[in-house]
This record gives sequence, C-alpha cells and structure tokens, in this order.
Amino acid sequence: MEEVKCEMCLHTSKTRKIYDYEGKKLCKECIVTLKYPRDFEKMKKEVEEFLSKKRINKRYHCIVALSGGKDSVVALYLAKEKFNLNPLCVTVDNKYLAKEAIENCYNVTRHLGVDWIVLQRDYTKLFEEALNKGESPCRKCSEWNMREIWRIAKLMDIDVIITGHELPFGTTAIREMKEGIKMVRLLAPYRLTEEERYNILKKLPWKKPNLGGYTTNCLVLGVALERFYKKYGFSFEFDRISAMVRFGLISREKAMKALECPKVPKEVYEELKRRGLKINFEGDDES
Ligand SMILES: [Zn+2]
Repeated sequence: MEEVKCEMCLHTSKTRKIYDYEGKKLCKECIVTLKYPRDFEKMKKEVEEFLSKKRINKRYHCIVALSGGKDSVVALYLAKEKFNLNPLCVTVDNKYLAKEAIENCYNVTRHLGVDWIVLQRDYTKLFEEALNKGESPCRKCSEWNMREIWRIAKLMDIDVIITGHELPFGTTAIREMKEGIKMVRLLAPYRLTEEERYNILKKLPWKKPNLGGYTTNCLVLGVALERFYKKYGFSFEFDRISAMVRFGLISREKAMKALECPKVPKEVYEELKRRGLKINFEGDDES
C-alpha cells in the first residue's frame, strides 16, 4: 500500500490513520488542532496576567525547574528579566546530568543573581532498566523530577513552578497541580525559534556541551535514543517533534534531522560507566 503523508505534520499512514479533511490529507491530531486552534496570543495574555500578580509577601515568587539545558535556562532568563520574578532555581541531579549542565546552572544563576538548590538523587535503576530494554526513560524521569520539585514548592510555600517545556498543555500553558500549585510552561506561548533561544543564551555564561542528539544537559538521552532506534528503527521523540512541526515550532527539514539516530560521543558512554550505569552491550559491536 502506498504511504500517505499528513500535510501538516510528520505522521504518515505508517504511524497514524490519515483522513481526508476539507480537501487535505491529515492525521487525527492535526484535525483536532484545526478544529480547536491553539491561540498563542491568548495563552501569552493568560501567562502574563498570571505571572504579574504580585506575590508580595513571598521571598521567592516561583520555582524554576532548572536542568541547565538550553530551554530551562531560557525560561529562567524570561522569568527573571521579562517578568521581574525572583525565582528559586531547583535542579534535580539524577546522577547523570552532564557536568557542563551543572556548571551552566552555577554560572547562569550566579550571573542573574538568583538562588539555586540541587537535589541529589540517583536514577541509576530507572535508566539501566530502560536502556537495557531499549525503551525511553524520559517520561518517568521527568515525572520523578516534577514530584521532587513539587515537594520543594510545598515545603517552601511557593505556588508556581516554571518549566522550559515548549509545547503547551492542549490549549493552555498553565496546569493545576496538586494542592493549588500551578505549573507554567513559560516557553509555550512565545514559540521562540532555536535562533531566538540561542540569542538569549549568548547573553549568558552558558556553554553548549556535545552530548549527542539535541540534548544540552542529559547524558542518558542520546544513548536511549540510539538504543531505541536500533530496536524499532525510529526515534521515540517522533510524536513530540511531529507536534512541534504541527505548531510551526520547527521546520520539516530540521525536524527530520532531529529524528535521525544520534551519534553519541564515546566520552558520553565512558562517563555513564564511570558514574555507575551498567549498560548491557550484548549483540552490539562494542563490548
Ligand atoms: Zn498530522
């Protein structure tokens, strides 16, 4: 059967059912997006109104979930410089953050004059299990991180957690968490291009590490993508990147490149091993 392509995103008849909709070939997600368009101006207004509410008696206006990667650093910059917030930056060090990411957190928070705390955790088991099965550890890892950060918010009586995610929750960038704490995906309404992000990063003492794939903080992601790719023949980021194409956040060309199997530098494997991660290389060339 001939492959039919969605005209709006990257899905094809191999990955989704493709429908005829108002004269176009589209996947279900794209049809939903056309029926209920994301109103980014409205989202922006909502976020700006929400964040401009004075939190007078609070030492910290919000938490910024800071991984040291490019997006969370840009979110921190916007929180501080655009919204004049005094954030508490919280980093969950799961034992496999690149040392450059920690250095970037240190340098950027010092440069901006904001406080920063690090939670020392150990996700070795999670990563070993996922990598050895060729599955993605990302969802669980970010759930665990969010749970840790929520606890700090609760403990410190801070009711806003800002993250660097670039896709909204459906049609809004603000999500209610447990017990009145709200999560704000600060980059979502602004739809900054990669170039615009790097222009912000240039103003900061932030250095880009070479980790394989597109990550700028995680030692595990490139390896996870590589192993998933070997097993299934495509990237586990396919849906997310496809959504970015749907919302016009990334060009088709860049998206296709982002979905290629990453080339992970040998040093990343060595560093993972040094930190205690045992990856089973059975059946691979390297041993
Ligand atoms: Zn589509």
